Amino acid sequence: MGLAWYAPEIGVLILMVLFITFGFGALRVNPNRLQSGAIFGTTVVVAGVFAIVVLVGDRLAMPTATWQQRALCGLWMVVILARSTLLGLFSAKLRMLVKARNEELAATFDKLEQMAARDELTGTLNRRSVMRLLDEERQRMERTRQPFGVVLFDLDHFKLVNDSHGHLVGDETLRHFTRVASASMRDTDRLGRYGGEEFLMLLTVTSDETAACVAAERVREATAAHDWAAVAPRLKVTVSAGVALCRQGETTEQLLDRADQALYEAKRGGRNRVSVSGPAPSLDAAGS
Ligand code: GH3
Ligand code: MG
Ligand code: MG
Repeated sequence: MGLAWYAPEIGVLILMVLFITFGFGALRVNPNRLQSGAIFGTTVVVAGVFAIVVLVGDRLAMPTATWQQRALCGLWMVVILARSTLLGLFSAKLRMLVKARNEELAATFDKLEQMAARDELTGTLNRRSVMRLLDEERQRMERTRQPFGVVLFDLDHFKLVNDSHGHLVGDETLRHFTRVASASMRDTDRLGRYGGEEFLMLLTVTSDETAACVAAERVREATAAHDWAAVAPRLKVTVSAGVALCRQGETTEQLLDRADQALYEAKRGGRNRVSVSGPAPSLDAAGS
């Protein structure tokens, strides 16, 4: 601005530089954090340029007397325009960078969400997730009065699997059980790892104990029939199950407690069987 003031004969060219400076500056403006320095600087420049144009008047010019001067001016304008294009490229690159970062963030968020909801070993829902679904199902039942059921599965003599075949085979057995159980479930039912070798199945909208037992029995049968020798030679795995249907006004703890008692009955009855809490349906202890 000083130069434009002292040498207004080439002032137009010099003032052009301000457009580039302001262009780059505009890309960095943060509307939430406008700094007083930036506001002050902008005000001074805008007021200064206005003053120069008004006060210097027709002396403000572009040197065009000789062909050299004209060539230099043309070149200068080309440089200024080229820098404007660069500015566009720079902002496009910034936008692409922001887009890539956003996509990265979204992917990380998805992964974190998955990790927070899934059991690391088996990939099925973890205890927290399945308990949340259970609470949601209870609330839904209070509104619609349509009952739902839970099944607590516990692998039989799992400690023996670990002791005889090693912990890695034990882990692989848990993964296989998850797959076997998931394959024999209805699409609407959910399975979660409740504890070490215990799994909780949530039977959404289940009419009665018999229907719940049929679902549990399918998993029990599929587990007993699974080709466990593929995991380790001579490995045999069975599962016991405790079934309970949620009663009106019952808390989650009470419901799970009843399922746990039914599971205990199944274990006491000889394992590899399904027991039910409440009215005994014809399928009770079907594994025996
Ligand atoms: P029961 O038929 O009465 O259920 O007998 P059990 O041996 O299955 O029951 P117990 O509770 O005595 O043993 C459970 C075993 O499960 C003990 C524990 O080391 C094992 N376990 C728990 N979590 C894991 C796991 O993530 N991986 C492996 N490999 N073993 C696990
Ligand atoms: Mg157990
Ligand atoms: Mg067990």
